[in-house]
Amino acid sequence: MPIPCDQNPITLASYLDGELPPDQIPAMHEHIATCPQCASEIAELTSLKSSLRAARGHHTPTLEFRKKLQQQIAPPRRPRPNMLRFIPVALALAAMLLLAFTWTQHSRRQDAFSEVADLHVNALASTNPLDVISTDRHTVKPWFQGRIPFSFNVPELTGSEFTLLGGRVVYLHQQPGAQLIVAMRQHKISVLIFQASSGQALPFPVSTEASGHNAFTVETWQSNGLRFLVIGDVDATEIERLAQSLKQANS
Ligand SMILES: [Zn+2]
Repeated sequence: MPIPCDQNPITLASYLDGELPPDQIPAMHEHIATCPQCASEIAELTSLKSSLRAARGHHTPTLEFRKKLQQQIAPPRRPRPNMLRFIPVALALAAMLLLAFTWTQHSRRQDAFSEVADLHVNALASTNPLDVISTDRHTVKPWFQGRIPFSFNVPELTGSEFTLLGGRVVYLHQQPGAQLIVAMRQHKISVLIFQASSGQALPFPVSTEASGHNAFTVETWQSNGLRFLVIGDVDATEIERLAQSLKQANS
């Protein structure tokens, strides 16, 4: 005798989804087998479920649709400025800074050479160009003792093309130094010696390369804590020769 059909569609759907309590499943199973109404209902539900499953696959929302939907839900934040745009500006700025720095260094160097040239010209223009007049290096060296805060060696120039005329105390950026005047034929050459510890005030290149400054040739180098400068209106090779004898005497 068939069980009277009192099943509601929700119970049938639960049975189909396997959500029915386990102890009720056998009775339901038996009922469906004998109840055409429920069997038809189950068939209909199964068909509906499978068509829904197929439709879900066909209607995956596109990326654009999702974006639009997101924009509507929450307006997007203001986009970050593109940092790449600023790279040319940064490069131009860096180039300008480098140019300014190079120019400043160049100017400082030029200024320093100008100051050294001024010391040389002043000595030659002075009515009393020398504080100590001596062609003897053994007289000149002791004369500077107590007048400048360092000592140096004067090379032996006797027998060379150079003649020591004497020396004087000079100041460059408030730093006392020695100036030797050396004659070569009708030309005069200045040898300037300062303490290298005051190097900040003397922004000269450490290279021994001779540099032309107007009519003058300058050679500068650093040795044993001293900064030497040789300047004169003679050829670079002659400045170089005098510089060599000074380097040997003070090495
Ligand atoms: Zn039934």
